[in-house]
This record gives sequence, C-alpha cells and structure tokens, in this order.
Amino acid sequence: MKTLRWTNHWLQGSPSFCQRVEPTPLDSPYFMHCNAQAAHLLGLDVGQVSNDAALRCFNGDELLPGMQPVATAYAGHQFGIFTSRLGDGRAITLGQTQRANGETYEVQLKGAGLTPYSRTLDGRYPLGAAVREYLAGEALTALGILSTRALCLLGSQTEIRRQEHSETAAILVRMAKSHMRFGHFEYFHHRDDIDELRELFVFVTEQYFPELLNEAAEQWPLRFLEIVIERTARLIAGWQSVGFVHGVMNTDNMTLSGETLDLGPCGFMEAYDPGFSPNPGDDQQRYQYDQQPDIGRWNCLALAQAFTSLLPSPTIPACLLRLYRQTYQQHYLQAMRTKLGLQTPHPGDVDLVHSLLSALARSNADYAGFFRDLARLEPHRGLFARTEFPVPLQNWLGSYQDRLRLEKSSPDQRRERMNRVNPCYVLRRHLLDQAIQSAEQGDFTELGKLLELVQNPYEERPGMDFYSQAQPEASFPTVQSL
Ligand code: AMP
Ligand code: MG
Repeated sequence: MKTLRWTNHWLQGSPSFCQRVEPTPLDSPYFMHCNAQAAHLLGLDVGQVSNDAALRCFNGDELLPGMQPVATAYAGHQFGIFTSRLGDGRAITLGQTQRANGETYEVQLKGAGLTPYSRTLDGRYPLGAAVREYLAGEALTALGILSTRALCLLGSQTEIRRQEHSETAAILVRMAKSHMRFGHFEYFHHRDDIDELRELFVFVTEQYFPELLNEAAEQWPLRFLEIVIERTARLIAGWQSVGFVHGVMNTDNMTLSGETLDLGPCGFMEAYDPGFSPNPGDDQQRYQYDQQPDIGRWNCLALAQAFTSLLPSPTIPACLLRLYRQTYQQHYLQAMRTKLGLQTPHPGDVDLVHSLLSALARSNADYAGFFRDLARLEPHRGLFARTEFPVPLQNWLGSYQDRLRLEKSSPDQRRERMNRVNPCYVLRRHLLDQAIQSAEQGDFTELGKLLELVQNPYEERPGMDFYSQAQPEASFPTVQSL
C-alpha cells in the first residue's frame, strides 16, 4: 500500500462539490476478507492489502500520506421522486491512485461513519449487506459486466441498530474508475446553480472524458451525454442477459462510467420470471427485472434534463433516446446470441430470443441452468434429446436446432463456446444467505469459497454440485432485513 501515490482530485474542484471528512474507526476491526483480484488491479498482492498498516488505514485509524478523505454532494430521483440533497452519507472517498500502466482507481470506504450528508442515519454498513455488495460486484465482474470492485471487507465489534435488532458494522473498501453519479449533476441543476453545474461539467470532462478535449467545447455536453447513454444502455443489456436485478435503480445509484454501483438489495434471477425483484422495499415493483431497460432510459432522460442549461437548446434531443434504445437492443441481442452459441447474426434472431424468453417464463426454468443444459445437449441423429426439458422449451428447441444449421461450427465447438459465457456458478440467494449467516457468526470460509466460485463461474468443479444448483427445498432460512 505504501508504494501507491494518492491524490484526491475532488479537492481541485469547487468547494461545493464535496466536504472534507474524517472516517470514524470501528471497534476492534479485523479483515473478514481481502480480494486478491482487486489488489492486483492496484499492482499489489493480497498480502500488501491485508497487513496491520492496511487495516489501520481502511479502518480510518491512520491514513496513508496523500489520502484526503471527502464526502461528495449529490441529489437523485429515488423511486421516481426527486430528492434535492442526498450525498455520500456513508461513503468516504480516500482518493485516487494511478498505476504505472496509466489506469486510475478511486478508493472509497463504505460504512466508515458519519459525513455531512448522513442526515439522520448512522453512516454505518451492516455486515450482511456489506458481504452482499462484496460478492455481487465480483460476480458481475466475472460475467464481464462493469461494476465497482471490492478490495476488502472489515468486520468489527461495533454494534448498530437496524429496525428492531442490532447488527455488527462492517467497512467495505471498494474501488471504481469513478464513483460519479447522475445525481452529482442533478444536484446543481435542481438548485438552478448553472455556474457550479458548468464547473462540475468541465471538471468531470477533464478528469474522465479526455477524449472530448480534442473536440470543439460547444460539442462537449451532447457528446458527453451520448457516451454516458451508450454506457448505460450497454450496462443494462449486460444485466438483462445474465438475469441480474439491481433493485434500487435510483439516479443517484447510476454512474457516468457505466459501472454498476451501490449493490444493495440486488440479486440474480433464478427461475426465469420477468417480474423478479430482489428488493422487498420496492412495493410498486418499479425496478423489477423486465422494467430495468425502461428505467435505464428514464434515468438517462433525468441526466439529460440536468444538462439542458448546457445544451444549445433546452429541449432534449430525440436522438439521445433513440441512441439508448438502439445501443440497448444491439448489445442485448449480441449477448443473447453469444449465450446461445450463435456466431453469425441472422435476421430471425430477435424472434428466436423472444420466443425463448416466453418459453422460459412458461416453464419456470432456472435461467442460468438452462444455458448450461442447452450447451450439453447433443444432436442425436439430427434431433436433440429434448424430453428432459419442460414442454414449452421442447417446442422452442426445434427452432433452435433449425437455427443451428445456419452456423458453421461443430457441436463440440458450440458447447465449448457456450460454457465459456454461461456460468455454472451464480450468486444464488440461498448461497449468499448461507455465506452471510456464517460470516455473522465469525466464520468466513463460505464467503471465501463463494467468492472463489463466482469469480471463476464457468469452470465446473467436481464435488461442487451444491453450489451450481437451485435451492433445494426448504434448506436455509433466508436472511431477512439487510
Ligand atoms: P442508497 O439507497 O443506499 O443508495 O442510499 C441513499 C442515500 O442514503 C445516500 O445518500 C446514502 O449515502 C444514504 N444512506 C443510506 N444508508 C445510510 C446510512 N446508514 N448512514 C448514512 N447515510 C446513509
Ligand atoms: Mg446509493
């Protein structure tokens, strides 16, 4: 850790962007887990982020030279309703560090105590929810979907109140290319503070969109929106293709970098269900699986709205919304083709995917499991042995088989390709609950084991069937309120 150089560019912007804040250490902190993959991104091995000095740093007892912790100001549309002041209530940015290869990562502590934006809340992160964010971000990353990364997780003896019970507090050390949210722009737009909005825009463009600096300055806002909209559409296409539901797609949880952020009550769909929602607090099912693409578009509209004073005309250009739809459709279709082992695009593929989804819904089939089973199917004298599939899927398999005739690769090549993109190990709810329950009792073996599997989700391991299958009937009680 000591070899890294730290800066905090937030402090180079206007004083209204952020406030200096000191982390509040947890009592008797210890490492629950350190993530070797994320450490490597910083050019470190896991021992360098899991020693005493690192623990003192991440617990906020003794920061490293150059770290200048801040909490930033943002607003956001939460479940469709605008809140003018949110901000980092329990996240503290320690700074950014640049690797020799030029890559920069921003490192944040989540759960390190009160900030000026904590409102009536406590600035803390319950251990169970922190474990979930730790694992979910890594699972997404392994599936090729951009997400904030988890560097390490600290447990403690600090007790916090949640509803009627107490829990122990954790600190999640997370990193991202940037934690900038749509809500950072909404904050100044809705205060009508155009000068600050413009300053934030220039600041963000210089830091994160250097490719725009070669273009004429009056083009920047529109080009900026185009880039963010494309990234968002692409991100959500990725979520849909793997059956991931974020659960809280508020505009303050959407990044400009296209990285998945703030993995709260999120989850991977198991039995295919367009209405799946992992968030029991989402009464209206606003953020359920089949709503995510439209909500992504709605959020992009809210971002574009916040940019209207920077655009030549106050009307949001229609091309931006077309761009969202086109990018989404293109990336989603391509991701599904790849999952189906199809290499050459064909005009019938949209219908093939739609009919698959409708057959999956009627069959209540396990989404991830289906693609692994599909890869295993052997054409047998020109016919698939389809009978092990539910009836609606058997019919669909006929069209799939016809479609495969348009492909050039052999059955073995197709199977290999499919098993490289369709996970065998998914972060299933009961596995996550089991890892959380063990961690709450001070045993982190399940956490480590599950991380290892979801970080390498394609390679089937002997003796690990329990981790690849849907929840056995009434096995584990589920963890309730996180
Ligand atoms: P979220 O729903 O996690 O995206 O959070 C929405 C807002 O509430 C953000 O401003 C968070 O920083 C803030 N927040 C959530 N939980 C806490 C907490 N325990 N302490 C302080 N702020 C919080
Ligand atoms: Mg949030």
